[in-house]
Amino acid sequence: MRKRLLIIPLLAVSLLCGCAQNYTEYTKTVFAMDTVMDLKIYSENEDALSMAEDEIRRIDSLLDRGNAESEIYKINSDKSASVSAETAQILSAALSVSERTHGAFDITIAPVMDLWGFYGGNFRVPSEGEISSALEGVGYEKILLDENSISIPYNSSIDLGGIGKGYASDRVISLLKENGVSSAIISLGGNVHTLGSRPNGSGWTVGIQSPDDTSLILGTLTVRDKAVVTSGGYRRFFEENGKFYHHIIDPKTGKSAESGLSSVTIVSDSGTLADALSTALFVMGLDESIALWSDSGDFDAVLVTSDGEIYITEGLSGIFECDTDYSVIKKQTAD
Ligand code: AMP
Ligand code: MG
Repeated sequence: MRKRLLIIPLLAVSLLCGCAQNYTEYTKTVFAMDTVMDLKIYSENEDALSMAEDEIRRIDSLLDRGNAESEIYKINSDKSASVSAETAQILSAALSVSERTHGAFDITIAPVMDLWGFYGGNFRVPSEGEISSALEGVGYEKILLDENSISIPYNSSIDLGGIGKGYASDRVISLLKENGVSSAIISLGGNVHTLGSRPNGSGWTVGIQSPDDTSLILGTLTVRDKAVVTSGGYRRFFEENGKFYHHIIDPKTGKSAESGLSSVTIVSDSGTLADALSTALFVMGLDESIALWSDSGDFDAVLVTSDGEIYITEGLSGIFECDTDYSVIKKQTAD
């Protein structure tokens, strides 16, 4: 039996050239939320970078379910808690994506993550019996959130790994703005978030990793003031007896999602939304993802299938570049 874990580092490729006058490029690498984070700002000084790091660490300790001081730890151990307005807002955002995606995104996935060892690192393939008993605690509709009070059943627990980095990117971008920074790109693991334009006035070029060969870039998106968040099974997985098991779980089966998609990139104004949706669409597969996008107006997507087909939603036409063929999905217009 052979087990292997690969954690693929960040994928953002920012293609930068000369700096505008008066602004200097400052960078910082932070390890937090179980991932490597790269922050790059153009500013008169680097003060905002240490504020950004402090903010990331604050959010990490608020949301990390393994930290006995965190509010999520308290919910999971006591099964009911009164939480800060901030935590309540993140939980509410998560529940709203669960509703929109009919449960493909579900933060009560924690017992299943634990079972497979994706949380904690003790990787193993559980039995069907273990999976069905863990699934008894799964179901976002079991969470009762009333303003700042939350309760969950005795056998449920919460994991914000699918949304926390997106929330952190929103907070960092707001904090940079409040501190006078108008040009920045941050990459929190697979979560890229851009502020304004590059110093020369052009958009930020963000690379999307090829899911089949992570040393290659499948295509690029040129964006301003957008979150660009990618989810893919290739980002965290282990192998046992020649089969790969990855960390994005289908809450219906309790197993790694096998929806026919190998990577999903969401582009949105909101990092929180983009993060949750990228995880959800990966679980939903191509057809359901397209249907959700058609009914929505707050995101665009690049969807890559397991057999290498690339689909982009029409909002990305003109800003997506790729050497191979791809299809543009258009919204149906009423005749
Ligand atoms: P991401 O890398 O943003 O796609 O998120 C993957 C992480 O989200 C996993 O490591 C888990 O912590 C969590 N997760 C896995 N499956 C789901 C799911 N179906 N809904 C919500 N969170 C999930
Ligand atoms: Mg996510």
